[in-house]
Amino acid sequence: MNEKLSRLYEYFMGFLFPNVCKFCNNTAAYREEGYVCEKCRQDRTKIDVPFCYVCGVQLTGNFEGIERPLCPQCREMPPYFDWARANSLSVGNVYQAVLYYKYSHKIWFEHWLGKLLIETAQTYLDPADWDVIVPVPLHPKRRRERGYNQSERLARILSGSLNIPVKEIFRIVNTPAQASLNREERIKNIKDAFAVKDWPGDYKRAIVVDDVMTTGATCSEVAKCLKACGVENVFVLTVCHGGSNL
Ligand SMILES: [Zn+2]
Ligand SMILES: [Zn+2]
Repeated sequence: MNEKLSRLYEYFMGFLFPNVCKFCNNTAAYREEGYVCEKCRQDRTKIDVPFCYVCGVQLTGNFEGIERPLCPQCREMPPYFDWARANSLSVGNVYQAVLYYKYSHKIWFEHWLGKLLIETAQTYLDPADWDVIVPVPLHPKRRRERGYNQSERLARILSGSLNIPVKEIFRIVNTPAQASLNREERIKNIKDAFAVKDWPGDYKRAIVVDDVMTTGATCSEVAKCLKACGVENVFVLTVCHGGSNL
């Protein structure tokens, strides 16, 4: 977009989205913050130690002296990905923003959510170690209904910041919504749902991006698919983690 067009675009966006916080409606907030003011952005619970070394779920209790604590789920049935880290628990304004972003076309929230994802990436990984970013795909039918894949948009924001290319994979099975299912049902539901086309052989270390992790079944299945293509390590990054091991 040339500069004139870009200014015109900003003008109309300003008209459509006046610079006011979309949560409290009374404080100034701007596009680069996803139109969420500083105070409303604080309504989130950041995941911090102790968390599961593998899936990143927030743990409670005393894990002092344990270098790599594991949740019961990862001890019993480890996922196919190597590590997952999320920025915040699935509560508060940050989770509301994820839901609005995903289900109500409120895509302006992505600037805030993208920043949280970048912050988490910078905390837990070194971009120089990673070859590619892979968004969790939607089935084409669901993508058409929604008009976009929120994970892909977040992956592209992260890609711009870390300077790592994005490679899409495909969802070949239109799985029923996972929300009402338990972990075993989710694993069965999502099995063999993903496929890869023309995967470059030198992509050995992949960062998988999604908006929310719940049981980890979807990201695990994506990791399984990537590892079948020769990927050696998979690191999952999500904005929220709503794990049940609290
Ligand atoms: Zn506010
Ligand atoms: Zn775990």
